[in-house]
Amino acid sequence: MEIIKENQVVIIGAGISGLTTAFWLKKAGIDVTVLEKNGDPGGSMESQRVNGYLFDRGPNSGLDITPLLQILVNELNLKDELVYSSSKGDTRYILRGGELHPLPMKPLALLKSKLFSFGAKMRLLGEPFIGRSKDGYYQSVAQFVERRLGREFLDYVINPFVSGVYAGCPEDLSVASAFPKLYELEEKYGGLIKGSILSLKERKSKAKKSKQSAQMFSFINGMQTLPKSLATKLGSSVNLLTDVISVRREGDLFEIDCNNAGSPKTIKTKCLISTVPAYSSSKLFQTIAPESQNHFDAIYHPSVLVVLAGFKKSDIKRPVDGFGFLIPEKENKSFLGSIWSSVLFPGRAPKDSECFTLFIGGARNPKFVNQETSVLISKALEEFKEIMGITAEPDFLSHRFWSKAIPQYNIGYIEHEHYFDELENKIPGLFISGNFRGGISVGDCLINSEIVANKIKKYLKIPPIEDGKKKSIAIV
Ligand SMILES: Cc1cc2nc3c(=O)[nH]c(=O)nc-3n(C[C@H](O)[C@H](O)[C@H](O)COP(=O)(O)OP(=O)(O)OC[C@H]3O[C@@H](n4cnc5c(N)ncnc54)[C@H](O)[C@@H]3O)c2cc1C
Repeated sequence: MEIIKENQVVIIGAGISGLTTAFWLKKAGIDVTVLEKNGDPGGSMESQRVNGYLFDRGPNSGLDITPLLQILVNELNLKDELVYSSSKGDTRYILRGGELHPLPMKPLALLKSKLFSFGAKMRLLGEPFIGRSKDGYYQSVAQFVERRLGREFLDYVINPFVSGVYAGCPEDLSVASAFPKLYELEEKYGGLIKGSILSLKERKSKAKKSKQSAQMFSFINGMQTLPKSLATKLGSSVNLLTDVISVRREGDLFEIDCNNAGSPKTIKTKCLISTVPAYSSSKLFQTIAPESQNHFDAIYHPSVLVVLAGFKKSDIKRPVDGFGFLIPEKENKSFLGSIWSSVLFPGRAPKDSECFTLFIGGARNPKFVNQETSVLISKALEEFKEIMGITAEPDFLSHRFWSKAIPQYNIGYIEHEHYFDELENKIPGLFISGNFRGGISVGDCLINSEIVANKIKKYLKIPPIEDGKKKSIAIV
């Protein structure tokens, strides 16, 4: 068995969380080792080019909500690769009564929209007069939205929106944990409409972007470009095909047992960052914190089947003129919605074709896993073709099944969040990161990578960056 000593910082997982943290630390002159079980960096970011189509099998895009993105793009020489979504992708559709309705984004469009009944529109106008709830943290997204905006808005906007972001259920997700900014609008300003206006003024004065106004980004060769470039930049610090089996504590050191392409290896370090998903973490920390299993395993990750389909333009009757569409649960369809990928980011399909990404399953329909994949795909495609007015078979078809796709910040999540804070306090040198802490989106993972890197610098007593001189720890 090979025993390696004196790694200053070891990071488990080469998804976007692990690689970006490693990048900030290396920039600060800290020796860092990344251990990744897969043969490719990126975790849930998987981009695939086949037959002239480009498909992202995991995240399709990110929101440009942090200046860290531009810093990474500059440092990694990705300026010519970065792409923003086309303005054609601004329109998002919702299926109601078999028809696609544009989601109204402005007051006048809302009044004219056929997506909502007259009663639902009047109910929305009443939002500023609804008081705060006494339920505090323990409110689901559904309870919060129904109380403030009415049942129809919950059913036809929030229900599909939540499945588009989390593949989740509004009845289970905690509004405070899953949508903290929304919760804050009520807590801080007393309402959503009032809060949106006042917080916009505050953000303008601080030059901050909200998720609503942020642009969607990707790369010419898909989202995996970012982790691949990070891994290339980090060079030999990234160890692929290195599966971490367990973590032990020996004095003030962590002993990390891994399987490196078939050979056992133990790595010792004083400072360990785990960025693996919650469901993988419970096994790793069994020895040093047996009770941690209850918290890691309690975070639910629903399954999602992603279907990637290419069709000839001449076979599509409906105009393909938007981001795609989401399907409310009430519409009783066998899939959650579709992204019109080649409209959002042009150049993802041969000139005479379009490519689409369909999502099946999620927390709304957990039993879908009991059905044959081929049956699920053909049923979803049949419904999709009817909605889009497509008569022909796909020119290209592929799929990716995620058995545990996205962590759900459900009611009760706050207890796990507190536990992870306690665990880090109890075991000095251990840092728990990844998309089950601080947000699931790619943008959130970037923001958290800097927060974690700053915690490590504090722990290692690396002098802080002087205020005013540098904006981010990337420029150290
Ligand atoms: C289908 C899907 C669609 C999505 N769409 C979007 C989107 O459009 N926009 C958006 O912003 N977000 C989206 N997300 C969410 C976002 O992609 C993820 O939250 C984010 O990429 C997670 O990054 P991470 O590094 O925290 O975790 P991961 O990407 O899961 O990386 C963790 C890494 O740890 C490794 N690992 C696990 N166990 C071990 C071990 N024992 N030893 C060594 N390595 C190990 C894994 O192999 C993996 O590489 C989507 C997610 C999915 C699944």
